[in-house]
Amino acid sequence: MSDPVELLRTDGLGVRYGGVAANSDIDITVNAGEIVGLIGPNGAGKTTFVDAVTGFTSATGGVSLGGVQLEHASAHRRRAAGMARTWQAGELFADLTVAQNLAVAVQRVGLRALFWDIVNGSRPPVTTIDTALATVGLTEVADRFPGELALGQQKLVGVARALVGGTRLVLLDEPAAGLDTHESAEFGSELHKIADSGVGVLLIDHDMSLVLDVCDRLYVLDFGKVIAAGTPAEIRDDPAVVAAYLGAPTENTDPSEPSEPLSLSEAVRSAPSTPEVRP
Ligand code: ATP
Repeated sequence: MSDPVELLRTDGLGVRYGGVAANSDIDITVNAGEIVGLIGPNGAGKTTFVDAVTGFTSATGGVSLGGVQLEHASAHRRRAAGMARTWQAGELFADLTVAQNLAVAVQRVGLRALFWDIVNGSRPPVTTIDTALATVGLTEVADRFPGELALGQQKLVGVARALVGGTRLVLLDEPAAGLDTHESAEFGSELHKIADSGVGVLLIDHDMSLVLDVCDRLYVLDFGKVIAAGTPAEIRDDPAVVAAYLGAPTENTDPSEPSEPLSLSEAVRSAPSTPEVRP
């Protein structure tokens, strides 16, 4: 097997919002063709990390893509370098077809682009859109409208939209939210196809069966810090991770209660939905 090619590296990434340390000293890597999970309870700092890596919030520390330092680059330059993200509320344009939703993402902006389009005619890069749609299995629905698709397919359109335009690393913020178990499993197999095409994937999701099934490696955040990292099997059995989700120690102090430890999926289901205030 060939050596992994490192795409994303963060070195001591930190974000503060006033008195809140939303991210502290985060070192994470994602290789080409790898699916890496970033999990943690509500308010742990996962979206903040994606914002910091992609240039949507100010951060300290280093961010590189394929060895190129990007921590001082604008969000626009990071996108041009091959980094793309999805948003938690990643709505699609309802009155555009699936292919047109992707074309919008690769349309150039600015006066020079406008001038170029007037002179040459606006031509979205059809092969790129075709490739992105084929990668996530949406070729057949390219001319349909989002409202005509199942929710799982709509989510995949959002992911395909992030893949166009020379994307090498995609950061997916809760892409499976709202999917049922079956749709989520299908979504997972499409993620494998994306990784198999050589793209690096950072996946944030609360669906533990999806995350534990599809990820090669996982990082766990709590209170803005990485508290565990490893394979899904290692993370699943880590008591510190279960405790982080429960917001309390896992040791059973009540002798009348059964002493069987909770699995990670059970802990996620019983985790409080409101985050505690971060110090
Ligand atoms: P969830 O799973 O609920 O989406 P998360 O792990 O993505 O949570 P973040 O949204 O990154 O967590 O939030 C981390 C911390 O930073 C929280 O304490 C949150 O209240 C705080 N925070 C996030 N964004 C801002 C902001 N723009 N201004 C101030 N505080 C913020």
